[in-house]
Amino acid sequence: MNKYSEDDLANIIQNVMNITSDYVFNPNGSVIEFEQNICDYINTLKDNIIVEDIPNIAQAIYEGISNLGIIEDSFNNVDHFKNLLSDNQELDMKKRMLLIVDPQIDFINGSLPVPGAEEAMNNLARYLLDFGNCYDNILVTCDRHPLRHCSFKEFGGEWPPHCVESSVGASVWPAIMKELPPFSLNTRFLYKGENPNKDEYSIFGSEKGAREMDAIISKEEISHIDICGLAGDVCVKTTLEDAIRLYPHIHYRILEDCVASLDGGESISQF
Ligand SMILES: [Zn+2]
Repeated sequence: MNKYSEDDLANIIQNVMNITSDYVFNPNGSVIEFEQNICDYINTLKDNIIVEDIPNIAQAIYEGISNLGIIEDSFNNVDHFKNLLSDNQELDMKKRMLLIVDPQIDFINGSLPVPGAEEAMNNLARYLLDFGNCYDNILVTCDRHPLRHCSFKEFGGEWPPHCVESSVGASVWPAIMKELPPFSLNTRFLYKGENPNKDEYSIFGSEKGAREMDAIISKEEISHIDICGLAGDVCVKTTLEDAIRLYPHIHYRILEDCVASLDGGESISQF
């Protein structure tokens, strides 16, 4: 799916003006019918939009209505259309999840840094500021290991010690923490790698994590997942592979500017 072009947005303004003029120039025009027609139109748009489109489309709808000089009470600001475009309960079953994989200090400038991670995670912080409230759910997975974990070199594993429980390195990158929608019931942290004898690249590799994910995905009827995080070729890739296998009906999208990889992005670009 591509972002809406200027032409697409001009089209939306024209279509909304057509719906609006049917109401304005009809002596029997009913405001309820008008609102319903606008909502039906918004519904048709929602099938093809990505999160980044929502602010521009909301602005176009607002312009289409205000061009004919009417602003009904409930339609008096752009945010109302943003809500209609992103709030899924009222209009259809499209539900969006943002899945952020391991945005932790050790993978950024700690014991196991991924090249480009700082830039990618700062991009993600800006993305959250602009679009965080367009998601129904934001899930953050975190690596959380005991002091002696099988994935550490000293214990026969592949990696230096990282994300040890309660350490600074295990913390979420502060810029991201700052932009997570505060106190939202729909922002959650899920942990993996807590069993000393088992490594878990994907949240679905943890029995508890998989159960929690399933409860959210099924109960909330998630239909779209945008995924990002660290490292693209390790935990993001494994998480995405598991998700596609377990939930093949969901639409997936990788937020490439918010991913950094140990292999320079080669394997994540295969998706
Ligand atoms: Zn780990």
